[in-house]
Parts: sequence; C-alpha cells; structure tokens
Amino acid sequence: MNRLNNKVVLITGASRGIGAATAKMIASEGAKVIVNYAGSQAEADKTVQEIKDAGGDAIALKADVSKVNEVTALFDAAIAHYGRIDVLINNAGIMITKMLKDTTDEDFTRQFEINVRGTFNTLREAATKLADNGTIISTSTTLTRVMVPTYGTYAATKAAVEQMTRVFAKEMGARGITVNAVAPGPTSTELYLKGKSAEVIARQAALNAFNRLGEVDEIAKVIVFLASDDAKWISGQIIGVNGAMA
Ligand code: NDP
Repeated sequence: MNRLNNKVVLITGASRGIGAATAKMIASEGAKVIVNYAGSQAEADKTVQEIKDAGGDAIALKADVSKVNEVTALFDAAIAHYGRIDVLINNAGIMITKMLKDTTDEDFTRQFEINVRGTFNTLREAATKLADNGTIISTSTTLTRVMVPTYGTYAATKAAVEQMTRVFAKEMGARGITVNAVAPGPTSTELYLKGKSAEVIARQAALNAFNRLGEVDEIAKVIVFLASDDAKWISGQIIGVNGAMA
C-alpha cells in the first residue's frame, strides 16, 4: 500500500520494539524513514537494512532525545538528507517500575529527562522545522488511565506527554499540523517484558478484554493510520490502543 508515499518520517527510538515495527510498516507504505536510536546501533542498522531489503528508503541517525543539542542535530541531519520532515513520531521512552517510596532521585530525573524533556525537545524543534500540513504522533501509555502500583513515576511522565500533545495541537493548527498520541496497553517488547514473572504478565494481560498482551504491529498499524492523510481531522487526541483495558 502507499498511504504515506513520499512522506519523510522521523521516528525516535526506532532501533527496537514498537519503534522498529513502526519504522518498517511506515516504510512499506512508501515513506522515507529516519530511524533514530540512542545506543543500539546494531539494531538500528538492522531495522534500516530490513527496510532497504524490502525496497524501502531509510537511514539511521543517533541522538539521545533528552539532549537538546543532539535533537537539533538530528532534525538538521534528517532535513539535510531528505529535504524535509513531514511526520514526527515520538516513540523513544524508558520505563522504571518501583514503588514511589523506593524511587530514587536518579530514577525520577532519568525518567523525566527521556520521556518528558525528550518529547519537549522534539516538539520544540518540530514547531519550526516540521513541514506545513505535517503530523506529530507521541507515545503515552494506558497507565495514565488506571492506578497500578509501581508505575507512578512512569505514568506521570506520560501524563505530561498527553497534556503537551493537547496544547501543542492547538498551537500547531495554524500550519495545518495535527498532533496526537497513542496510549498502548502492555505490549510484547523488551521494555515491558524485562524483569516480569509469567504470573505478573498473566495478571496484567487479564486487565484487557482479550486476555493477552498487545503485539508491536497492532500499535504500529494505528500509528500508520494517524500518520496518513486519512486522519487529518484527528488532532489533540489520545488514542487508546489497548484491547479495552481502559
Ligand atoms: P523498547 O525498550 O523496546 O524500545 C525503546 C526504544 O527507545 C529503543 O529504540 C531505544 O533505543 C529508544 N530510546 C531509549 N532511550 C532513548 C533516548 N534517550 N534517546 C533516543 N532513543 C531512546 O520500548 P517499547 O518499544 O516497548 O516502547 C516504545 C514506547 O512505547 C515508549 O515510549 C514506551 O514508554 C511506550 N509504551 C510501551 C508499552 C509496552 O508495553 N511496551 C506500553 C505503553 C507505552 P536504544 O536502544 O538505541 O537506546
């Protein structure tokens, strides 16, 4: 299919997980893709190679989204390579799960630096550098809608992402730019599975209507739709992608 023909799409954190799956699906729809990563160069290169092997066009660019200079350089390098950016997908994120009483200052800062400042950094760049009539899709979580112990700080970072999404949607309308976020439920990736027992996974899977984890492609399909011109009248929305979890 060619729903994103000739669009240039920047995806943060596209070396692994939901971001890598989205990068590949976006490329299969005809877009040129910038695969951003922070540390996993081999995985980022693999994502790019898979896109090229399937006949697509992609490059990998390293940048830590929490570092303003690196984000500026990322946007400038992407525009130097492809001429413009039409779609920004803010996918990069980390998750530290601890009871609030056990959360250290370092945990708190690291989580907010990457999830909140990282999103802020890319939104501010996009305000002037994203093409007119472009699209921004950020990544929240269904944990902003439920109260699950140990996710307090993580959910707080994503609540901040959601509110920036709503306000930024109003600010960017004058340039025809739509701004939305997806809010996935538990999805089978390293971020979610790492350190969880089978019992915990089963308990959390039972919170949705289908008694299973989400798969990365199920999130990617919704992001592809939001990035397409079919979604141009959707803006300022947080779209739950969670099998009726909340
Ligand atoms: P993964 O841990 O599988 O992948 C995370 C990606 O983010 C990697 O590509 C990683 O790149 C990148 N990343 C991490 N820190 C930075 C940084 N500072 N700068 C740039 N890139 C960075 O996570 P998921 O695919 O599971 O999650 C993707 C997004 O979806 C996150 O925002 C997460 O919060 C959200 N989400 C995930 C859910 C789930 O159940 N999996 C549910 C709800 C939301 P590298 O390895 O190179 O550092």
